[in-house]
Amino acid sequence: MNIKDHIRSIPDFPKPGILFYDISTLLAHAEAWKDAVGQLADAVKPYKPDVLVGIESRGFLVAAPLALTLGLGFVMIRKRGKLPGDIITHNYDLEYGSDTIEIQADAIKPGARVVVCDDLLATGGTMVAAINLLRSVGAEVVAAQFLIELAFLKGAEKLDVPVNSLVSYE
Ligand code: 5GP
Repeated sequence: MNIKDHIRSIPDFPKPGILFYDISTLLAHAEAWKDAVGQLADAVKPYKPDVLVGIESRGFLVAAPLALTLGLGFVMIRKRGKLPGDIITHNYDLEYGSDTIEIQADAIKPGARVVVCDDLLATGGTMVAAINLLRSVGAEVVAAQFLIELAFLKGAEKLDVPVNSLVSYE
């Protein structure tokens, strides 16, 4: 199964000049998505994670089925103000402005081996922020897992953990 055949690219979304890689078509194709989750499981298993973390929102679509497949728990990193209870917050700079992500304070046991999942690696800014947040709560981040990597943006160079993706665009 060639995963790329099920990913659609849409010009000028969300802004003019941006080519957006749309995973809706992959998710909607039962066989292709099952195959993709199987490939993700094969990639992640060697890191022997204790838990998988997904980054809101498409990272949830990757991490949740993968966690079920591997028999692991799934933890959410969310945008500001979405999680109840005690939370840990991380602010980070974007090209224009800043953003905030959060995790529940008791979600990760100190020293837990974590694989962080997102749908797509572009500049790497989102994943760097997620890794910093996870380290601030005592996680050992053992890998970053993506469906798609935009290799020409060199986001992987910003990450100090092993980086895996199922498909890459040069
Ligand atoms: P980065 O922080 O690496 O520059 O951007 C990655 C984040 O933006 C990910 O959370 C991803 O969901 C989102 N993203 C950026 N471009 C695309 C795209 O073309 N397709 C999809 N599906 N997500 C994108």
